[in-house]
Amino acid sequence: MKDLVFATNNIHKLDEVRAILGDSFRLLSMGEIGCQDDIAETADTFEGNALIKARYIKKKYGYDCFADDSGLEIEALNGRPGVFSARFSGEAHNARKNTEKVLTLMQGITNRSARFRTVIALIFEGKEYLFEGEIKGTILQECRGNGGFGYDPIFLPEKESRTFAEMESAEKNRISHRARAVQKLAAFLLENL
Ligand code: IMP
Repeated sequence: MKDLVFATNNIHKLDEVRAILGDSFRLLSMGEIGCQDDIAETADTFEGNALIKARYIKKKYGYDCFADDSGLEIEALNGRPGVFSARFSGEAHNARKNTEKVLTLMQGITNRSARFRTVIALIFEGKEYLFEGEIKGTILQECRGNGGFGYDPIFLPEKESRTFAEMESAEKNRISHRARAVQKLAAFLLENL
């Protein structure tokens, strides 16, 4: 069985990808290869940040690996928060403050179009590959729902009547930007076993 590192320590992301890949690969987290490093995401695109993380693992540990980067892009804010999604309010991973900042900036704006995007960078048998997933939707005027994380309570996916935060996680995980990128990655890996 081939070893493959997913450059994350997020157990939910790992489980999601493990479920799709089944037993075809031994999927290892950063912790499982002894990597505790906080890899600085200094690029100004999702592609750039995902590549930084995947190349870091490949170079330092030698494993074939993949890494992801995601965020929310709002049309009327010229694609912001984008790569700054996790730290939009200045404080890393404060979802309530990040969401409040978006709602404040969007006051009085009628174009509410937005999308979540994920890019996965894979380094596999000497080559680099990128896989992308997106889901379009709109930004509400206020929060709705208690599930999910991040910007889920203000994001209403296209053709849906409930926000990501009002859906069961299994339901969100079937249609999310991340799921779409992971499906593409999994299809590639299973074809190239
Ligand atoms: P990551 O690259 O997947 O860690 O995502 C970076 C940031 O983007 C998160 O901290 C969230 O603020 C935002 N984000 C990414 N995916 C989602 C999502 O599915 N729902 C809500 N917010 C998200």
